[in-house]
Amino acid sequence: MKRLFNVILSALFPNTCVACGEIIPENEFLCEYCAEMAETVDFTKCCTRCGMPKKQCRCSKRVFHFNGCAAPFYNDGVMQKAMYRFKFGKKEYIKKFFAERMALTVKTAYSDINFDIVTFVPTTFKRKSKRGFNQSELLANEISKILKLPLLSNLLRCKKSAKIQHTLNFDERFKNVKGRYECNRNYKLNGKTVLLVDDIKTTGATLDECAKQLLLLGADRVYCVTGLMTAKNKKKEKK
Ligand SMILES: [Zn+2]
Ligand SMILES: [Zn+2]
Repeated sequence: MKRLFNVILSALFPNTCVACGEIIPENEFLCEYCAEMAETVDFTKCCTRCGMPKKQCRCSKRVFHFNGCAAPFYNDGVMQKAMYRFKFGKKEYIKKFFAERMALTVKTAYSDINFDIVTFVPTTFKRKSKRGFNQSELLANEISKILKLPLLSNLLRCKKSAKIQHTLNFDERFKNVKGRYECNRNYKLNGKTVLLVDDIKTTGATLDECAKQLLLLGADRVYCVTGLMTAKNKKKEKK
């Protein structure tokens, strides 16, 4: 009976590819084409601190407050499309897809780190109300369940909606986020190792500012995981 119900259900709501929406077999996330096109990040070729492909690492110019940064995919092509569909559609199955891949990234890139808590980059109240959710919060919630780590959801607060980041250059972005986030002083993170979650990393300015706030609360170390990361000449870095 349950099987019949499942058959009817999958006929009415077929499983679709997270990136393009094409119908695919149950228990899969990507169609063959998108699976082929998805640009996965090879950690062994990236800087362990900023997460960028080694040739694009700028750690000698700027010391980030976070101790590490990693992402399963590049912010491009089919994965960018998938994240966009999640951001503007709150699709459960896309959330599950990214959360699973991000959790796997944490296990691989930070295999020797013992995390105490998970938190995420907040958005302004206005933007959250408008969209109805904060995609980073949804991802962090899911990741905390997979990794069996407690989620602290009101650690950070976004004070003001500064200028939209994507029109700014590298240095402007760091200036733009200054003072934008504050931490909840009711918490003490003494000696804790924090996993900070966001949807996309571009320059790392937002993550850096949030990490700084977490360190001010007493956190020992902050490691970041994002669904996507922006880098140039990605294809050259591909295996
Ligand atoms: Zn597809
Ligand atoms: Zn670096």
